[in-house]
Amino acid sequence: MRNAITRKFVTLSIISVLLVGAFAPASTVLAASGDTIVYVTKTGECYHADGCSSLKKSKIETTLQEAVDDGYRACKKCSPGTLDSTTTTTSTKTTTK
Ligand SMILES: [Zn+2]
Repeated sequence: MRNAITRKFVTLSIISVLLVGAFAPASTVLAASGDTIVYVTKTGECYHADGCSSLKKSKIETTLQEAVDDGYRACKKCSPGTLDSTTTTTSTKTTTK
């Protein structure tokens, strides 16, 4: 009867692994890599995902990393995602244009 107990334990282990796997991605939904293509406008202060209504006037392709480095913020309408290291974006070097 030992086999039955072992099998039950294995089944429980598999279920718990599946549960952890299902919940893990939820915390990284908005995080994107710096290579992600985003779009900025000539006058705006935000970067956008493709197809955002704010891109009708001008649409300049760039990467998420460059947009953040230039001081752009994530658009609230289209939610283009943020860099993984969001905590380090507060103290960037001051760039005057
Ligand atoms: Zn947008």
